[in-house]
Amino acid sequence: MKYDEIIIGGGLSGLLCAISLAENGRQCLIVSQGQSTLNFSSGALEFIRTKEGETYEQAIAALPSDHPYQVIGSSELPRLREEAAGLLRRAGITTFCENGRNHWRITPLGALKQAWLSLGEMTHFQKEDLPRRVLVVDIKGYLDFNAAFIASSLGEMGIQAGICELSVSETEKLRENASEFRSANIARVLDGYAIDRLAEAINEKAADADWVLLPAVFGLEKEEPACRILRKIDKAASLIPTMAPSVPGIRLQRMLKQRFLSLGGIFVGADSVCGGDIAGDRLQSVRTVNHPDIRFEADHFVFACGSFFSKGLMATQDKVYEPILGLDVRYEGSHGDWFNPDVYADQPYMSFGVRTDRTLRVSREGKTLENAYAVGQMLSGASPIKSGCTGGVSALSAVRAAELILNQ
Ligand SMILES: Cc1cc2nc3c(=O)[nH]c(=O)nc-3n(C[C@H](O)[C@H](O)[C@H](O)COP(=O)(O)OP(=O)(O)OC[C@H]3O[C@@H](n4cnc5c(N)ncnc54)[C@H](O)[C@@H]3O)c2cc1C
Repeated sequence: MKYDEIIIGGGLSGLLCAISLAENGRQCLIVSQGQSTLNFSSGALEFIRTKEGETYEQAIAALPSDHPYQVIGSSELPRLREEAAGLLRRAGITTFCENGRNHWRITPLGALKQAWLSLGEMTHFQKEDLPRRVLVVDIKGYLDFNAAFIASSLGEMGIQAGICELSVSETEKLRENASEFRSANIARVLDGYAIDRLAEAINEKAADADWVLLPAVFGLEKEEPACRILRKIDKAASLIPTMAPSVPGIRLQRMLKQRFLSLGGIFVGADSVCGGDIAGDRLQSVRTVNHPDIRFEADHFVFACGSFFSKGLMATQDKVYEPILGLDVRYEGSHGDWFNPDVYADQPYMSFGVRTDRTLRVSREGKTLENAYAVGQMLSGASPIKSGCTGGVSALSAVRAAELILNQ
């Protein structure tokens, strides 16, 4: 079986890379073994954390030279950000981002965090624009959203934040089985009529509020339920991510996959690439666990397998390795040096990953594979928690790899 490109991993980076290639008429195959980290994400992508008054360019200049943004080249990044946002738009995904600066969002535990690009229905604001009176709405009995933390965090910023717990018959029915009362299941029962009744109940409570905040439990497959609740609430309203699973993240994954399929792409899920055949400086084909006898051939291959969380990288007591081909990986020291006992400190292991050259091409035993690229969280050099560059590295490296392939 021969394709133009085979992408290994169907998370944010694999999908964006594949969509970008497919939009340009390439025949692509994605093989993906499991859930991607989008299913746990906030519905907002981080590009880089900036200090007060600092520009993106200044923050990027302070990154180490092996950070993926430096490898790609800082002058390329504004264009790649635009292109990544365009890919999401063309997939029908409504987003919010400001030209060249971060906005703020609220986490499930009420902390404020910077973001580059947020799904349209999620909270996004500049601190000086925050309203004075907020109502935080919780769904009665739902444990993966902490309205009290959120209200207290807003209170610390001088915002008057009240809380109310509401339910509709659909959520009460679901609540009969406590273990089923999770975000994705709530989103399944909150359809048009239930949403209208919930909005009515909110409107009764929100007379004094300037802004209504709700858990993001609307719209697993499409945006409409999320848009509907915000439209039906009389006041300004936004959604806050819940603890995992993330409804906006699941929807983002599904809408990107749908866009890829609509462009003629082939997505093989629940299968895992487990090896490949290299001839000279080229990867010829890969094999999967479910189809060990088939050689999946392509002109180019993109490794988009994520980091340790997604098994794109693996570790034993004495080494860190890439499990499919044994690609060259950057890690330092021995096991004891990989972790900082202070869990809040920067963790060295987070910047471990697959080495690439400036064109994102991978190597094995020091020899570059001319037609194989790595993108996303499996790249070395980024310390995502420290730099706040998680989704940005995935999205921009994916778009860059597609561009490099198309320009050959
Ligand atoms: C819990 C959690 C929450 C996060 N929240 C946010 C957030 O709110 N905002 C943000 O910007 N970033 C967030 N991130 C960071 C997130 O990792 C990136 O934003 C981005 O989604 C990562 O995309 P990726 O494609 O690089 O990797 P992944 O999402 O890890 O996707 C890799 C995919 O490759 C598959 N795969 C691995 N090995 C193989 C194989 N051998 N064969 C086939 N498939 C394979 C995996 O199953 C997975 O589906 C979060 C990360 C985690 C872990």
